[in-house]
Parts: sequence; C-alpha cells; structure tokens
Amino acid sequence: MPSSTVEDYIKRLYCEQENDPETLVPMGRLAEVMGVVPGTVTTMIKALEDSGLVRYEPRAGARLTPHGEKLALHVLRRHRLVELFLCQTLGLNWSEVHDEAEQLEHSISDKVLDRIDALLGHPRVDPHGAPIPCANGKIAVQSSQSLASCRTGRIYRIARVVDTDAKFLQFAEKHGLTPDTLVTVESREESADAVVVTSHNRGNSCTLGTGAAREFLSSPRRNEKSAREVPCASSQTRFLISVCAIIE
Ligand SMILES: [Zn+2]
Repeated sequence: MPSSTVEDYIKRLYCEQENDPETLVPMGRLAEVMGVVPGTVTTMIKALEDSGLVRYEPRAGARLTPHGEKLALHVLRRHRLVELFLCQTLGLNWSEVHDEAEQLEHSISDKVLDRIDALLGHPRVDPHGAPIPCANGKIAVQSSQSLASCRTGRIYRIARVVDTDAKFLQFAEKHGLTPDTLVTVESREESADAVVVTSHNRGNSCTLGTGAAREFLSSPRRNEKSAREVPCASSQTRFLISVCAIIE
C-alpha cells in the first residue's frame, strides 16, 4: 500500500501533466503546488522513480510511468467519489468537500468505494464537474475551454470549476457560476484584467479577473458532450482543452 504522501505526489503530478501533456513537470512547479522546498520534491521524485512510478530527468522534470498513472487515477477516483458522496448523501456543501476528501481518499477501501459508486449510480463527474475515473482505470475525456478564452457573446455551459478553494467555490455559487449553469462572457477588458460574465440561471452579471475566469471550464451548449455523456477513454488520453464554438 503506497503511503498517503506517495499518493499525494502521484495525484498532483497527474494533475500537472493534465495541464500540459507534452512536457515534463518541473521540480519547481511541483514544489510550489505541494507547498514544500524543491529539494524535498527531488528527493521524493527519485524515490518514486526507484518504485517505478515516475520517470525523472534531472534539470528537466518528471512524468508518471503507466504504473504511476494507474495509481494516480485510482486516487482521483477515490477523491472524487468521496466528494460526491459527501455532497449528495451527507449534504455537505460543495465548497467544503475537497478538504474532507483529501483525508478520506487515503483510507477508504475498494469495497466501500465500490458501494459508494453503486449507491450514487456510477456517476461520471464530481461536484465540481471533474470526471471520475472508472474502476478499470480509464477516464472520460473532458472537452472544454475556460471563460478566459471562449468567445464573447455566446452561450456556454460551465463544465467544471477547477479551483477547489472553499472561498472561491462560495464566490462561484453566490454568482451562479456552478457546473451545468449556462453563461455568456459579455466582454473582456485585458487592460483592466476584467472578464464580465452573465449567469443565465441567475440572470445577473459579475466581473472576474482573468485568473479566476481560467478556473471555469466551459463546454458547448449545443451538441453537448460533457464528461457525463462521453465514454471513458484510455487513461493515456489527456483532457482536451479545445476551442468549442456554440450557438451560431
Ligand atoms: Zn477535490
């Protein structure tokens, strides 16, 4: 059984790879997201390389091996199913389940996880819209682009909120920017770092900074193919952050 620290590193590496599938993840970046100094990360990554979980290239960075990727997807499956269970069954708010799942993901057994999966009806996405890997280690492809880059004046559906910070999620909920909500980016003012977004569920607008707008992944309203509908793809398949036009 890998330790919770190993699982945290592997999961974080997977998420970083997802952001940029073509390159190795630099140690500095991994140190930043893990909240430790680079030397600590390098020591850990070398140990993970010895375990066959990562491939490490000094001064370049690291990537998961297929074995490491399989483990990462299993940890993500536990995390995201637990989040949904806490929301749907126990009634916790979507802004508070991430931190709880960070703890529970390391201790829940496969037997309990399978029961939760069945109880929830084998869901495809977590409360934040992130795809839940299947038990066989595959994950649905999520085709989407962020509110920082989608076209203005068109209707999109929020597919996923990437930032899991509780206060950010509360802000998103307050302004009607939750998964499955239809939204339109009214305008972008780069000089003011402002993205004006209308939530069609609420009928109100709010202004986001570009960084915040990047945290909302959107997908086409028409001919929708969200993680709910598309079949599970190979774990080798990366999330496609592609440009999706919508209403002509
Ligand atoms: Zn989470």
